[in-house]
Amino acid sequence: MKRALAIALWIAAASLPGQEIGVPLQAPEYEPLPLAEMPPGKMFLALQPHHDDHTTDYGMGGLIARLVDEGYRGVYVRSSNDEKDGPHGYPLDDMINLKEADEATKVLGIDEVVSLEWRNDYMDPIPLQELRAQFILLVRKYRPDVVLGHDPWMHYDRNPDHRKVSRALAEAVWMAGYANVHPEQLELGYKPHRVPYLFLKGRVDYGRGHWPNVAVSLNAEQLRRKQLAYTTHRNVYAHPGTAAAYRKMLADEGLTVPEIESLNDQQAAVVFENFFMEWISRKRGRENQTEMAEVYWFRNEFDHLPGLSDYLRKNAVRK
Ligand SMILES: [Zn+2]
Repeated sequence: MKRALAIALWIAAASLPGQEIGVPLQAPEYEPLPLAEMPPGKMFLALQPHHDDHTTDYGMGGLIARLVDEGYRGVYVRSSNDEKDGPHGYPLDDMINLKEADEATKVLGIDEVVSLEWRNDYMDPIPLQELRAQFILLVRKYRPDVVLGHDPWMHYDRNPDHRKVSRALAEAVWMAGYANVHPEQLELGYKPHRVPYLFLKGRVDYGRGHWPNVAVSLNAEQLRRKQLAYTTHRNVYAHPGTAAAYRKMLADEGLTVPEIESLNDQQAAVVFENFFMEWISRKRGRENQTEMAEVYWFRNEFDHLPGLSDYLRKNAVRK
């Protein structure tokens, strides 16, 4: 939405002096991604906030077309009324945008658009539970194999409707599978349905979100203290019940771990937690060419003024 303005602002921001200096976000090395197979199935639901979220450069028009080409039937859900998208205000923008959504998604092969008509950009006061209940009902009604939508964990998205809808989506596709969630819907004849496949996207024109920009190396003693401090929180970590459950899972398959055989469940739980803390520390270390590490998004006090920071680094001298 409001794309021309967004592009103008982006161009303005990209040309700001000082953009190249300062402390840039260190994105990981780009690796080509594996090519996705289309999942098995026949029905998909595009759960979107707006009329146009399938067509823009960050949208899903290509994937929708491909799913249709590969035998899927699709339904597009417009959650808002799009009243602010266009020059006419309410109700004309709502009506025009809905009509255009209907026409545009037909081009892609979608044959139905459902409009929930929540007020555009003013969705924050809606109880999340209410929006989620609607999505759960739609999932149970259409029983999609695939759901498409925004990625709620790309939470840098400044668009309030994108954030609200994506979070409700992520919760709904999981909770729709449980009969004890909104059982009143089952009384209407709907059955629980868990969605097996998700394609989620986020806008990257606002930035990529926070990747860690530093790794902090740890030595063995620091790891040991980190493990001990972690497992000291016995109220929440290193619970004997967890170890008992793992033991049972192994025993059911006729397996055991010799290291924990002589330990009680509490001691075994500590071994498991210590293993995890070491494993994650070594993994982060390997990724960053050191033995063990933790990774962080690091900022210093001048980083919010990258030009000034650069000036101070270049010009400061020892007195
Ligand atoms: Zn949108």
